[in-house]
Amino acid sequence: MTAIWMIVRYMLPLLLTGQPHPVDSYLDEEMPYLHEFYKSLHQHPELSLMEEQTSEKLAAELESIGYTVTRGVGGYGIVGILENGDGPQILYRTDMDALPMPEKTDLPYASQVTTMVNGSEVGTMHSCGHDMHMTTWVGTARYMAANKDKWSGTLMLIGQPAEEIGQGAKMMLDAGLYDKFGVPDYGLGLHCNPTIPTGQIGIADGYTMANTESIDIKVYGVGAHGASPHMSIDPIVIASMIVMDLQTIVSRNLKPTESAVITVGAIKGGTKHNIIPDEVGLQLTVRTYTEEVRQMIHRRIKEVSRGIAIAAGLPEDKMPEVIIPDVFTPANYNEPALTATIQEVASKAIGVENVVYAEPQMVGEDFARYGSTEDKVPTVLYWLGTVPQERMESHDLPGLHSPFYYPEIETTLRTGIKVNTEVLIDLMKK
Ligand SMILES: [Zn+2]
Ligand SMILES: [Zn+2]
Repeated sequence: MTAIWMIVRYMLPLLLTGQPHPVDSYLDEEMPYLHEFYKSLHQHPELSLMEEQTSEKLAAELESIGYTVTRGVGGYGIVGILENGDGPQILYRTDMDALPMPEKTDLPYASQVTTMVNGSEVGTMHSCGHDMHMTTWVGTARYMAANKDKWSGTLMLIGQPAEEIGQGAKMMLDAGLYDKFGVPDYGLGLHCNPTIPTGQIGIADGYTMANTESIDIKVYGVGAHGASPHMSIDPIVIASMIVMDLQTIVSRNLKPTESAVITVGAIKGGTKHNIIPDEVGLQLTVRTYTEEVRQMIHRRIKEVSRGIAIAAGLPEDKMPEVIIPDVFTPANYNEPALTATIQEVASKAIGVENVVYAEPQMVGEDFARYGSTEDKVPTVLYWLGTVPQERMESHDLPGLHSPFYYPEIETTLRTGIKVNTEVLIDLMKK
C-alpha cells in the first residue's frame, strides 16, 4: 500500500507536469540524512528543562550550515540567525522536550530511555511529536541556507525548551529574545496532528487554541465527628455544591456563541470515614479565548464560591479563597492575513485538497506568547498531518501523549518542509 501511495503522491505529479516540485527534488538528496536525524532525536528524548543534548544537536546542526547560533537563551533555548540582505525578519520556532512516559510502539527505533524523576526512573518518549517538529525545522533551515538566492531577509530560528510545562516561550522572551535579536515581522510554528493524514496540513484563522490556566479554590469549614454533623459546617458539602454551581457558569453566564471550559480535575479533603474535615481543596483548569470571557469566569467563580459559603453560615474569615496565578498560557491567535498567505502558498505547494480546515480547540500551546507581547507580531501555528495511511484505514488513531503515537516520517517531513520553505520564500521574496 505504501509503495502505491508513494507512486501516486510523488510520481503522478511528475508524470503530469514532467517536473518534480523543486523542493521535492532537493529533498530526494536530503531524506536519508533527515530520516536518521529524526530517529536519533526519537531515540534520545529529554524531558522539559533537561534538553541539554537535544539543543546542542540543533545548535551544532545550524552552525554547520552557516547560522549564527546563541545558546542558553532561556534555559536550553537556542537562537539561530541567518542574515541574507534586506527584507523581513521571520521567527520560526520548534520545541524540543519529550514526555515522562514509556513508549509502547513496536517501532524499531522506539525510545528505550528512562529519566530520573522525583527519585524514580520513568520511561521517556517523544509522544507529542516534538522530534518531528525539530527535524522539519532542521530540514527547512538546510533548504533555506542552500537556496539563499531565492530570498532576502533574516531568518530567526528558535529552539524552545519546556513547551510541555508551558514555560519555555516565556523563558526565552524573558531572557530578551526580542531585545537581543530583534522583533520579528512574522512568527511561524507547527504542531503534529494525530488525526490529520500525512501529506496534509490543517489551519484556521483567529483563535485556535485557548487561554489555559490552573485555578485553586480552598474551601474552609468547621470540622466535627462524622456522627455529629450539626456541630460542623461541612466543607465537603460546600465544595460539592461549588462544583455543581460552577457547571452553570459556562451554560448560563456565557454568551452561547462564545467558548469556555471549566473542569474541576481534583477534589482533595478529609482523612477518614467518620471525620468531617475543616478544609477541602479544588483544582480547576479554565480555558477561554478572550480576555473579557476570562475575566467574567474569574468573577463568577469567586461569586459562586462565596455565595455558597455565606449560605452555609460561614463567617467572613472562613470565606473560600480563589487562587488565580498571574501567569497563564495565552490563547493562540492565528493572524488572519498571515493565515491566508500560508493557505494560498501551501495550496500551491502541496495541492489545495491537502490544505484542510482545522477546528479550533481548547488545548493550550505556549507558542501563542510570541504573538502576545506588546509588539503584536503576526503569528500562525498550523497543524502538520502525521497519520500514516494504514492507520487512517484501520481507524487506530492514538492521540498526542499516547504511548502508541508516532508520525509517519517520509511524507510528513516532506510536507512540513515544503510548506515552510515555500511560505518563508514567499514572505521574503526578492
Ligand atoms: Zn504535548
Ligand atoms: Zn506538543
